Amino acid sequence: MSLHEVVPGVHAWVQPDGTWWLNNAGVVTDGGQVLLVDTCATETRTRRFLAAVEQATGGGTVRLAVNTHQHGDHSYGNSLLPAATVIVGHEHMREGLRVDPVIDGCPPLWQPVPDWGAVTRRLPDVTVRDRLTIHIGQRRVDVMHPGGPAHTTGDLVAWLPQERVLFAGDLVFNGLTPLVFMGSVAGAAAALDWLAAFEPAHLVPGHGPLLTAAEITPVFDGIRRYLRLVRDTAEAGLRAGLTPLEAARACDLGEFAGWADAERIVPNLHRAYADALGTDVDVVAALTDAVTWRGAPMATKV
Ligand SMILES: [Zn+2]
Repeated sequence: MSLHEVVPGVHAWVQPDGTWWLNNAGVVTDGGQVLLVDTCATETRTRRFLAAVEQATGGGTVRLAVNTHQHGDHSYGNSLLPAATVIVGHEHMREGLRVDPVIDGCPPLWQPVPDWGAVTRRLPDVTVRDRLTIHIGQRRVDVMHPGGPAHTTGDLVAWLPQERVLFAGDLVFNGLTPLVFMGSVAGAAAALDWLAAFEPAHLVPGHGPLLTAAEITPVFDGIRRYLRLVRDTAEAGLRAGLTPLEAARACDLGEFAGWADAERIVPNLHRAYADALGTDVDVVAALTDAVTWRGAPMATKV
């Protein structure tokens, strides 16, 4: 993993290969002030990130951190930030992390079972419903919600309008299977249109390699096609009376079979079913079905 300078003073922390629990994060700095976008899942990975931030910013003060959403790979490291750092998150993100049982002990759905190390639940101090603007030195950072459920119900992006850099969080997976089971299939597709309208020069996805302007459209088109496959598979499965797991087993992933974390088709179908039926997703049941589909616990390198 390493820190990439996207434009002067704006960095992305990229953790290959971006699979389960290996997220990207961000750093915005100016005049000795630092804003972080997300932390990492484990104590070890977050400390590594913060050491790189310290080196890149010359020991700048981490004044603020934005959590793009509630998932632990983006937020469990919050407790390792300085006590004085103000953490910003969407109001639904804060509630999601508040009741997240996985930080207290990860179920054996992944192999190896992640050990978070010495992290504790640290919730945002400031919550956002729609949007908020942060000023770091001379830089402006617009923190915005896509307007409805997408990757989760509490997603935020960080947009630097002057530098045209967009930290998209998990609204964008680059080269890996997208995950929408705690959000919305249609909402995730709509969020891509919303993101594209920013016309970013650089986009930092939540997982996978960085994108420049010309790379964004083909990547978004691939995600859109995948989300359509999820929707169509769910519609056919519902008509045929299949469970989400049965529908996943009957589904030909086609061009997406080579994307890492292919088993996400199962929890994604759980979401598509729930959206169609007006029910909610049992998160653990959906992930347990993914393990069944795979025939083994899901792979992580955390
Ligand atoms: Zn996520």
